Amino acid sequence: MSCFQVAIVGSGPSGLYVADALSRKLPQVRIDLIDQLPTPLGLLRGGVAPDHQATKNIARQFERVLSKDCVRFIGNVTVGSDVSYSKLKSIYDVVVIAIGAMTDRRMGIPGEDLAGVYGSGSFVAWYNGMPAARDLEPLLDGPSVVIVGNGNVALDIARLLGKTEEELAKSDLSSHARLKLAATAITDIWLVGRRGPLDSGFTPAELSEFNDLARVITVVDRTQLPPQAPYDMPEERRRLVEKNLGLLRGFSVGSEQAEKTIRLHFLFNAAPVEVLGETRARRLKLEKTRVENGVALMTGDTFEICADTLISAIGYRSAPFPGLPFDDQRGIVINVQGRVEPGVYTAGWCKRGPQGVIPTNRTDALGVADLILEDISESMSPGKAGGVELDRLLAERGVRVVDLAGWQKINVAEIARGAATARPREKFTRVAELLEVAASGTGPGE
Ligand code: NAP
Repeated sequence: MSCFQVAIVGSGPSGLYVADALSRKLPQVRIDLIDQLPTPLGLLRGGVAPDHQATKNIARQFERVLSKDCVRFIGNVTVGSDVSYSKLKSIYDVVVIAIGAMTDRRMGIPGEDLAGVYGSGSFVAWYNGMPAARDLEPLLDGPSVVIVGNGNVALDIARLLGKTEEELAKSDLSSHARLKLAATAITDIWLVGRRGPLDSGFTPAELSEFNDLARVITVVDRTQLPPQAPYDMPEERRRLVEKNLGLLRGFSVGSEQAEKTIRLHFLFNAAPVEVLGETRARRLKLEKTRVENGVALMTGDTFEICADTLISAIGYRSAPFPGLPFDDQRGIVINVQGRVEPGVYTAGWCKRGPQGVIPTNRTDALGVADLILEDISESMSPGKAGGVELDRLLAERGVRVVDLAGWQKINVAEIARGAATARPREKFTRVAELLEVAASGTGPGE
């Protein structure tokens, strides 16, 4: 009996959850998880904060998926250059696009391209040792850093900048970033939200971490905090907002923390208007806003704050490859509940937009796997060549594929490097290094 040949593009949490579900529910299936990086795990490796090691425990579950007999990891293969999207469609019965959302949205304001301005995607990828951002070399030489956005990514960045070397000791922050962060002389971090605390994307667990940081004083203007969340807010959201307000009220006390050296300012109802500076960012011009029906309206009242470095944490878009039906406005794959075109599906952030945590993507991915199973039972039959044809094509093109064994060598080598300094891992941060380790099993130059 022939097998269904499935290609999943993207080996992050969403792709892995789809692979897991299909491998459990389809008795005859071969699944190729294709990733442009030599390493799997997507945002779990490149996005989750390096000091949130508990979140990364889920990697064990994903390793079990990767190790299934019917699943192959095919790393270091870029769809769009090493193999085209149309070719994938022609050789696999089912193609699932789970490429995440890795490109920064732009603020669309003058001065955004000055040196010292970074998108959170690049900045996070830099400190997490992702090869594409390895050489970002962010300017962190001034006393003032502004982070635009009031979501959990903004909190991650503020926390990482605020923590001491000692507080980061048990993280897997890449060493190039560790050295750079240790050398900064930051005194002020601004977290700027264009709406108010009732509308922020912060979650209480993440916000509460600022209670305990050794050198960070939290500063909140109490007049920006409403006495309570409105009663017409949905109950679950209302509970979350009340917790956030309680935490923010506690932050605004703060005077007994005077010995601390970094002030973290929560600045609400302020929208960025222009980054100012001659050759590099120095100041940020903001306009006060008022929120009506959930929308931030400009008031015409502007002011400036120092911004030697500016990081915009305002969300992401997906990066399509040629031929993929793509909604350029929203930055997502065009789909109807996960269906893209016959035999093609999408899951995760590239399907819904960059919202939600890993469990949200699990639910989403399981739904997409159910759609695939439904379509298979109604109208599809296996018969395409699948992985055999992909292997032939990649060999013909001289692509250095990293398989599961290669990833496992990288994993072991990184954990061993980390153990030398009592850290969970020290990542290899360049593709050439990763390929060398995958091929040899030992670290480059070791
Ligand atoms: P987010 O929660 O959507 O936050 C984006 C922020 O950017 C919002 O405050 C948004 O304001 C603001 N923004 C958007 N466009 C803007 C503009 N032009 N000017 C000024 N501000 C602008 O997204 P995120 O922080 O990137 O996080 C993505 C997802 O990952 C979220 O679901 C988040 O919870 C999750 N995540 C979770 C964790 C964790 O659990 N530890 C860590 C990181 C990320 P408006 O609301 O006004 O649009």
